[in-house]
Amino acid sequence: MSGQRTRSVPVLLAGGGLVGLTTALLLRQHGVEVTLVEKRATTSAQPKARRFHTRSMEVFRELGLAATVHDAAKDLVGHDHMAAGRTLAEAERLPLWSPPGSAEAEADISPEPPTLIAQDLLEPVLRAAAVDAGASVRFQTELTAFDQRDDGVVVELVDHGRGERESLRAQYLVAADGARSRGREALGITGSGRGAVGAPTVSAYFRADLGEVVRGREFNLCHISHPAAPGVLASVDGRHRWVYMGPDGLDHDWPALLRTALGVPAPELEVLSLMRWRAEMLVADRFRAGRVLLAGDAAHVMPPFAAAGANTGILDAHNLAWKLAAVLSGRAGPGLLDSYDAERRAAGWFAADQSTRRTAGFADPTAAADPTLAHPYVLAGGRFRYPAGALVLGPDDVADAEPVTEYAPAVRVGTPLPHRWLDAARTRSTVDLAGPGWALLSGGPTAATAVEDLPVHAVELDGLPPGRCALVRPDQVVAWRGDDPATATRVRADLLAAPVTVSG
Ligand SMILES: Cc1cc2nc3c(=O)[nH]c(=O)nc-3n(C[C@H](O)[C@H](O)[C@H](O)COP(=O)(O)OP(=O)(O)OC[C@H]3O[C@@H](n4cnc5c(N)ncnc54)[C@H](O)[C@@H]3O)c2cc1C
Repeated sequence: MSGQRTRSVPVLLAGGGLVGLTTALLLRQHGVEVTLVEKRATTSAQPKARRFHTRSMEVFRELGLAATVHDAAKDLVGHDHMAAGRTLAEAERLPLWSPPGSAEAEADISPEPPTLIAQDLLEPVLRAAAVDAGASVRFQTELTAFDQRDDGVVVELVDHGRGERESLRAQYLVAADGARSRGREALGITGSGRGAVGAPTVSAYFRADLGEVVRGREFNLCHISHPAAPGVLASVDGRHRWVYMGPDGLDHDWPALLRTALGVPAPELEVLSLMRWRAEMLVADRFRAGRVLLAGDAAHVMPPFAAAGANTGILDAHNLAWKLAAVLSGRAGPGLLDSYDAERRAAGWFAADQSTRRTAGFADPTAAADPTLAHPYVLAGGRFRYPAGALVLGPDDVADAEPVTEYAPAVRVGTPLPHRWLDAARTRSTVDLAGPGWALLSGGPTAATAVEDLPVHAVELDGLPPGRCALVRPDQVVAWRGDDPATATRVRADLLAAPVTVSG
């Protein structure tokens, strides 16, 4: 290496899982040059996450990828039910659950319906899109060390394919390197939370043609109560590929255990892989250390019972990308990145806490829902209100808190724009009005089409009566509400310069 000049890149992303790949796509959308390194040779071999909420689908919509994701997800369309029984053969499908008091179906709260797609199918879609978007995506390349300096981060990489070592200088390093994040550990960032939840479990990913067995009873998850093989069966493609989350132990005779749980001979059953894991709640105590930012599981791990881990990580990416782009282009000071910590650490804690509190409900799908938990659409819509960050919370805003246990979206500072269709053909949503740029919304008609470079849109949304306006960030989060549209550009400039505000 000596004598060679260290190559510089604006952003080095460590980790090519869902969150790293989404961050790469969003940074490219903002025109940022990105290098992503992933130590594995391939995308995830395990299906892991399978439920992508409406707010994540809105991020994919902004990237122009929603249709591709829906298409890749077509095997599980209509597999939304839960089922339960002693074995799969005896299981009955439970009635489709919808949250009490919800005026709208989940598909109507967003321009994009939620999607069941296994992580091992989604990651290749994102990887191909990131390459198409111009990201440098390097698999079989591991971040082995890094050294943070005033003007950048020097990273050490090993290309396992070529057997070569390389140093790079990055202006910013995003550690999206998963639950055992080397980035987090190297920085000595501690974590908080309730730790391990429940006993370890094993996810057995297997192939078996069960199409005829489940026909007419298709499900998302099926709880199996057989005393010799209790667990939960998850549909991966609803026909040939399945994951059984069963009793701890890699040494079980897994084919026999699976056949017991299935209650059918399944002669051609083949176990593809076993993954031992334990539900855990741990949220990093800092999401930013200078030029290094944590995202996804590197920043927060949570039990999978609210299907929130990957979804929360995707929203980290959405929050971080426009801020990094603004800082790198000189439009914002580096202090803007403190708002990433303020906003996403609070949101990560909320999601992890909600996921942990849902553990008991997951064990018994027929139990009544705990009314003190967040409304499922609040989680699905990413409607946690940022308590502080790149936003101006005036006294009126503080008093107008986003409800959590009920779903009542409105234009509120610190929350994403609510969805309302803008045309009869249902092609354009209010959610489309901002991103990747900023926007100014006017409650009621307005003659203005722009205030300086801010496009102005008249909308009819709760929380924005005639005469009021709202400044919306590139991640569709409302940053400010006020009466005078001419103030909006000054508010934006202030936020970009010194963003972490609590009240105004
Ligand atoms: C059984 C189960 C079910 C789940 N279901 C859901 C669900 O339905 N919905 C949901 O939202 N979430 C779910 N989750 C959680 C979800 O899988 C994770 O939150 C998600 O994978 C996190 O993505 P990530 O990109 O942050 O991390 P990962 O997916 O862990 O990716 C991190 C990547 O970084 C790479 N890496 C690590 N170190 C380095 C290094 N030094 N250099 C280069 N690369 C490195 C790793 O190889 C890995 O590919 C589930 C999890 C489990 C276990």
